[in-house]
Amino acid sequence: MNDNEPKDFIRQIISDDIAAGKHEGAVVTRFPPEPNGFLHIGHAKSICLNFGVAEENAGKTFLRFDDTNPGKESLEYVEAIKADVRWLGFDWADHLSHASDYFDQLYDAATQLIKMDKAYVDSLSAEEIRDYRGTLTEPGKNSPHRDRSSDENLDLLSRMRDGEFDEGSCVLRAKIDMSSPNINMRDPTLYRIRKIAHQNAGDKWNIYPMYDFAHGLSDAFEGVTHSLCTLEFQDHRPLYDWFLDQLSLPHRPRQIEFSRLNLAYALTSKRKLNALVEGGVVNGWDDPRLATLAGMRRRGYPPSAVRDFIGRIGVTKKDNLIEMGVLENSVRENLGDEAPRRMAVLRPLKVVITNFPEGEVESMTAMNHPGREGFGTREMPFSREIFVEQGDFMEEAPRKFFRLKPGGEVRLRFAYIIRCDEVIKDDVGNVIELHCSYDPNTRSGSGSSDRKVKGTIHWVSAEHSQPAEVRLYDRLFTVVNPGSFDDVMPHLNPDSLEVVEARVEPALRLAEQTVQFERLGYFCPDAVDHSEDKLVFNRIVTLRDTWAKVEKAALQQQS
Ligand code: ATP
Ligand code: MG
Repeated sequence: MNDNEPKDFIRQIISDDIAAGKHEGAVVTRFPPEPNGFLHIGHAKSICLNFGVAEENAGKTFLRFDDTNPGKESLEYVEAIKADVRWLGFDWADHLSHASDYFDQLYDAATQLIKMDKAYVDSLSAEEIRDYRGTLTEPGKNSPHRDRSSDENLDLLSRMRDGEFDEGSCVLRAKIDMSSPNINMRDPTLYRIRKIAHQNAGDKWNIYPMYDFAHGLSDAFEGVTHSLCTLEFQDHRPLYDWFLDQLSLPHRPRQIEFSRLNLAYALTSKRKLNALVEGGVVNGWDDPRLATLAGMRRRGYPPSAVRDFIGRIGVTKKDNLIEMGVLENSVRENLGDEAPRRMAVLRPLKVVITNFPEGEVESMTAMNHPGREGFGTREMPFSREIFVEQGDFMEEAPRKFFRLKPGGEVRLRFAYIIRCDEVIKDDVGNVIELHCSYDPNTRSGSGSSDRKVKGTIHWVSAEHSQPAEVRLYDRLFTVVNPGSFDDVMPHLNPDSLEVVEARVEPALRLAEQTVQFERLGYFCPDAVDHSEDKLVFNRIVTLRDTWAKVEKAALQQQS
């Protein structure tokens, strides 16, 4: 593919529209979240697409809160959404708007429709309206109130607005076609009575527009040229077009649908995420196990990794379930070059180096990055007692186990070769300590000995290292498609969070940035709980994708 060729079908349409001089060559898009929860990875696709195509074409993008549902929306969510969009690296400049900014205009549009005999106040109950609507195979029936006069409708609508009627007693509906094969066209509701205040519009309104009425028209009011949305809105497009056909508006947005992003092992529905948060199943919307943007930020995913991932999966109309491994690979790639290396021992096993003088400390020089000399080096204290990883010792080791075993040798990274001489156990037979001896001629980088051993393990000095809480995150669900279950509780991974008391090298005391713990993965200080007094790290991602096989098999079974 040539660099100048559009990357996907939407960019192709936009580039053709510009070439044809449509919308005077302008590109105006919007990202329209409803502030009823935090954003998730699916929203990142929409954000990157909307802000991306505008940026590429010197256009502009509105961040518009689709706030037509005051009962479920809040300022907390509004602020969280803004922070997430900024974190992803996008800027709406002064194009911040709300569907509620257009409540007056929407009300005017409704009265215009009434005057054209294209809308009426219906006094059927919600249940009756549902019954009258018909089904996919049966046409609907006209409401007995469908033929009210314009004057009566105008009067009723203004009294609905002024709070004269109870919630549920009547609604305003478009007058389109009760036998349309498209159910969205069977006299959809435009306004319903809700006697609650609105987080942005205050207590001015007793009626609120329905999403379908507000959404398309807000696009038109704002001069959006390309209204990009997910596939489920395809059947709503005729309705949005109908509104545009009835009302004379200066702009006519073009709606283009694309498929939602679904991520394996993750939930991408605010409603279902909300249930996990409210139910205390996770620790808030920013729980690092959630595929919310706030969760990924706290987990330590760099925003560049999320953007790369979105670029990699592309934009199509095909439904898909993307492997979590693809996202994690983007994270690894984005961190690999940037994260300095450090040493930490997650499950410490004490090693006494019996021939190393008591009380003596040697300083070992450790490279901060194997591929980037500019990252420099640091000093690591080496002493008679060190910690190594429990998993790096095996008493009954297979022949190919090249780490510590009785009588076996291993290199301590940036230090010496040691040999395991004695295994110390407690009363019940658990290994609690190893006694080893070191070969003073094998100091790393000294060139004094070129003796080689097959294994190299990480370590920290017992006395100089510090305790740290390390949170090891794993998949939150045991099923690849949790979104397809009404009740996800039986499918939670009981091991999605393991907390270990680790020991970390002294250089980590001041850690403010993401590091690679050698041989273990990428970790970052927790944005909330980490302090100089108590070190707390989150595992961002392991070095290798340990789920790849399981995930591939599960996805294959799906399709
Ligand atoms: P949710 O079910 O999580 O509430 P939603 O579509 O109702 O999702 P909105 O706040 O209405 O959430 O979404 C804002 C924008 O983000 C919409 O344009 C929507 O199409 C888009 N979007 C939401 N989820 C995804 C997804 N999984 N993939 C791509 N775009 C998405
Ligand atoms: Mg929605």
